[in-house]
Amino acid sequence: MPEISIVVPVLNEEGSLEELHHQLRNVLDGMGRSFEIIYVDDGSTDRSLEVLRGIYSADTSVRVLSLRKTHGKSAALAIGFDEVRGKIIVTIDADLQDDPSEIPNLIKELEKGYDVVSGWKKRRQDPFSKRFPSKVFNWLTSLATGLKLHDINCGLKAYRRSVTDQFKLYGQLHRFLPVFAYKEGFRVGEIPVAHHPRRYGRTKYGMKRFLHGLLDLLTVTLLTRYLKSPLHFFGTIGIAFTLAGFAINCVILSIYIKHHNIQGRHPLLMLGVLLMILGFQLVSTGLLAELLTRMSHKGREEYSLKLELSHDATEEKQARRG
Ligand code: UDP
Ligand code: MG
Repeated sequence: MPEISIVVPVLNEEGSLEELHHQLRNVLDGMGRSFEIIYVDDGSTDRSLEVLRGIYSADTSVRVLSLRKTHGKSAALAIGFDEVRGKIIVTIDADLQDDPSEIPNLIKELEKGYDVVSGWKKRRQDPFSKRFPSKVFNWLTSLATGLKLHDINCGLKAYRRSVTDQFKLYGQLHRFLPVFAYKEGFRVGEIPVAHHPRRYGRTKYGMKRFLHGLLDLLTVTLLTRYLKSPLHFFGTIGIAFTLAGFAINCVILSIYIKHHNIQGRHPLLMLGVLLMILGFQLVSTGLLAELLTRMSHKGREEYSLKLELSHDATEEKQARRG
């Protein structure tokens, strides 16, 4: 069993793969620990898969998984995480923007007692149009989640196996894995890492990434705060709306009782009715969400144990806990 598993998501990176692999080998050989490198081809349409075949046939520490079509970086990472055999998992981008020589630093930090260590592209080599929105996004993420990281979207991250085993990645939620981990009580750290401009190929994300990022942040907030009790979220807003609508309508009713007409307060009446209907809708959405939660709840599996002291725990069970 290798000690360290490197997972590399690859989408149309034919130009950088060979050099990346060469650098990865150099760094990993220098560490003197056993390792495997898992390349996950996310349905590339260039020569990436051919290049990966070449790398695979010359190196027994390499495994290659190739998706039939592109499903996104989260999917590629999820597939890699499913296959890893090491206790420590490091993810790195395939475009050589991340520097493989940072891997030992990440692992060193992890072994100081963290479960996740995220890279921070302190001197980021990207255009301002990407750096600025990213800064805002990181700030918002810290604010919404309480996890103080400078750079949530760094490709270079190290995890203990217990973390990658615990969470299912889908959509674009890979960037938030440290948030999910933090919310579950795992210890999350961060170190500055080198970053290089893209030399080969092009970025896979356009300006849409920020809109999608914001929507994902909303999802993450909902999932981490209210997943186990969605009615607390929908119900609070719903009841507030209903009460406000009810109060407005009471005022209108008293005016009507006094004057036998509502004295031109029709817009207010509409607002009151609208708020009450919206409020009821939100409460019922919350109830539906509770129903879903109840049906999909996996009981014990949803909670992550840090330790189990038991005289008859099997070795396999202990290994799973890391
Ligand atoms: N990637 C992927 N699937 C995707 C998009 C990206 O596997 O749908 C990989 C890509 O090949 C690279 C990493 O994810 O290794 C980061 O992508 P990119 O460099 O385009 O992101 P950026 O550096 O612009 O944030
Ligand atoms: Mg990149």
